[in-house]
Formats: sequence, C-alpha cells, structure tokens
Amino acid sequence: MAFWDKHAETLPRDKLEELQVKRLKDTVARCRKSIFYRNRLKDVDESQFSKPEDVSRLPFTTKNNLRMNYDFGLVTVPRDEIVRMHSSSGTTGKATVIFHSRTDIETWADLVARCIVMTGAGKADVFQNIISYGMFTGGLGLHYGAEKVGMLTIPSGVGNTKRQIQLMQDFNTTVFHATPSYILYVSEVMVQEGFDPREFDLRIGFVGAEPHSEQTRQRIEDIYDIDAFNSYGMSELNGPGVAFECEEKNGMHLWEDQYLLEVVDPDNGEVLAPGEEGELVVTTLGREAMPLLRYRTGDLARIVDDGEKCSCGRTHVRISRIKGRCDDMLIVRGVNLYPSQIEDVLMSFPEVATTYQIILEREGSLDSLIVRVELYPKMFDGDLRKLRELESDIVKSIQDEIVVRPRIEFQEPGSLPRSEGKAVRVVDMRGEM
Ligand SMILES: [Zn+2]
Repeated sequence: MAFWDKHAETLPRDKLEELQVKRLKDTVARCRKSIFYRNRLKDVDESQFSKPEDVSRLPFTTKNNLRMNYDFGLVTVPRDEIVRMHSSSGTTGKATVIFHSRTDIETWADLVARCIVMTGAGKADVFQNIISYGMFTGGLGLHYGAEKVGMLTIPSGVGNTKRQIQLMQDFNTTVFHATPSYILYVSEVMVQEGFDPREFDLRIGFVGAEPHSEQTRQRIEDIYDIDAFNSYGMSELNGPGVAFECEEKNGMHLWEDQYLLEVVDPDNGEVLAPGEEGELVVTTLGREAMPLLRYRTGDLARIVDDGEKCSCGRTHVRISRIKGRCDDMLIVRGVNLYPSQIEDVLMSFPEVATTYQIILEREGSLDSLIVRVELYPKMFDGDLRKLRELESDIVKSIQDEIVVRPRIEFQEPGSLPRSEGKAVRVVDMRGEM
C-alpha cells in the first residue's frame, strides 16, 4: 500500500481532531482580515473552541456570498501575495473567482499527489489529463499533482478525440483523468476507428467533475479493462484533491487536515448525524489567500459510516459518491428524484449504450418523463419482440426506483448529442407553458 504522506494520511483520530481545532481557530482569525468576514465574525470568540463540532457556531458561506463579494471581498492576504486565480465552472448562475497564494498552490498539489498515489498510480505512469484546462480547476489541479508525483504528464485537454487516442497509443498512456461522459465517448470513437479499448496500456482512470453512478464506473472499468476511481472537488475548495477513492473503492477519503466536513439538512442547515444524507458543508483549514468558513457546496452525499476503519489504513473520513447537486433535484408529478437514479438503472442493462437523455414535458397538466436511450448496434437486428421486452423491463426498473413511470424512446446509436465537457443529461421543457 503506497502513501504520499503517510504521517498525515494515517494520523490517529484524536491527533487529527486536535489539529483541526487548532487550524480552525487560525482560520477564523485569518478570516477577520477579509472585508466580507470582518463584520460577520464580530460575535465569535474562537478561543473558546475545543472540538471540531464547534465549527457550527460560525455562519455559513454561500455561493451567493462569493458572487456578491466579487472580486477581492474574501481575500485575506496583500494583493502581491496572490499567484493564481481560478473561476468556478458556472454550472449555475454567474461565475465566482477564487484566489491562491504560493503556499495554497503547493498545498493543493500535495493533496492531489496524495490522491494519485492512493489509487496505486505513481512515478512510473504516463498520465493523460483529458480535461479542460484554463479557469476550470480540473486541468491544472490534477496537472500539478501529477507532476509532483513525478508522472510523465500529457496536458491533452478535452476534445480532438482522434488525437487523444493517438496520444494514448504513441506514448503508452497508463492513467487518464476525464469526465465519465467524455471517456465513454472516447471508447465509442476507438471502436469506430477499429480499436479495442481494452488493448491500450491504460490501467487506471480518474473520473470526476460530474456526478455519475456506480453502474457508470463499472461500465468504464469494463470497457477499458481498468480500475476507475471517483474524484471529488470544486473550485471554491481548490478543485480536485478534496476527496478521492483509495484502492478499496468504498467511499472517498476527504482530507480532514485541510477540510472540516459537516453534512447538513439542505432545507434548514441543521447538522445531520453521520450516515445521513445531506448537503456537504466544508471549512478550509489551511488556505491562506481565501479561506472559507462553512461553505455550502450544494452537493448531496453522506458520510460512509460502517463503523470500520478503512483497510487501506487511512484515518480520514469517507464520503459516498455525490448523488447530485441540491439544485439537480427534479420534481416530477410531485415526486423528488435525481437524474443519477435513472442513470443507475439504465447502465445496469448491457444492451444500453453509453449515452442517454432525460426529457421533461408537460402534457396538459401532467408532467411526462421521457428517457431517450441509445442501444448497441447488435440490438438492431430486427427482432422487435426482444426490443419490446427490453422496453418494458427498463420502464419497470425505472418505475421501481423513482415511482414515476417513464416513456422510453430507443434511439439509433450515435443519434443523441455527444459531449466534450460536462454532459447535458436533462432537458426540462415544462417551463414553456
Ligand atoms: Zn481507504
């Protein structure tokens, strides 16, 4: 079992919590230097904090706070100590900006290095970073961590799929980082070009930047004959490197010496018990240029609370895969559901190809849920009876999962829009009444 920083990664819980309390106090003190936090912390006396849970005495920070204090409102260092700016991907609403000092960039690369080594990847690997560079943190975040580990790093970015395949072939890429939807698309192009995705040298994949189901991970592992590891991060918290799976693939270890985690009820902000599903709220514990207190991530997950220490030896808490963002939740005929639940069902059918789309329409006063599904070419051999059986099996499985009965539309392979970045899985046309 390899470690990047064994001491930090296996710190006994009592020592880890002691460190969290110390760093939390330091962070609150540092936050007082920012225009935004100065007034908000007037009634807080952090010298009274004695346990990590005391963080709940602090006010939340929201994405809207970041937007309203654009550009330097949350910065706590002199301007000439800032060396990097990133921006959130702006999935919803106006973008926000995040600033880093030199130490912040080094700490970030170090956390990513921990993640990489934790999956079994290392210096001898060739790493192709198939993800957007630029203001989006997925590119540079993994890039700096991979170089720190000492991997040969290919900053191939996203798109130009045939060239990606050529690079994998020419330089014997063994590890990649990509969004799940794009790396599935790459496999389709490989097949079109006459390659077998399993015959490349790939052995490990890092998949992140969009919520995906366990079935999708298994699909990726199967298509490429690799181990795929789930990654969690967001620009506001640096980017990738917040939490990552170890070789056990039983939840993502969140680095608690740098991030203090709470799970709260997204409706009222109350802290939930371990194991309950809710919104992840994170306080940075080491950040210099732009520390954040109790940041509402909008991401829904739970702490993996199986009462056992992970057999990899790491002591840091594990979180479940992200179910979706609070604002991804769809309400269809009064039922709450997440696109990831439908994806999970679809990907369990071997006949279903890698691309699907969920369409919501209103027929009269009733919502209708249409799921467009591409099938693998071998299913189009003219046996209509088999197709009808498959259709009713999928309808039943989805209805069992989400209660709502969907309508299934089978599509020719390759007919749904392909994505080179984050996939558009849901088209909601109900607002157009
Ligand atoms: Zn582990």
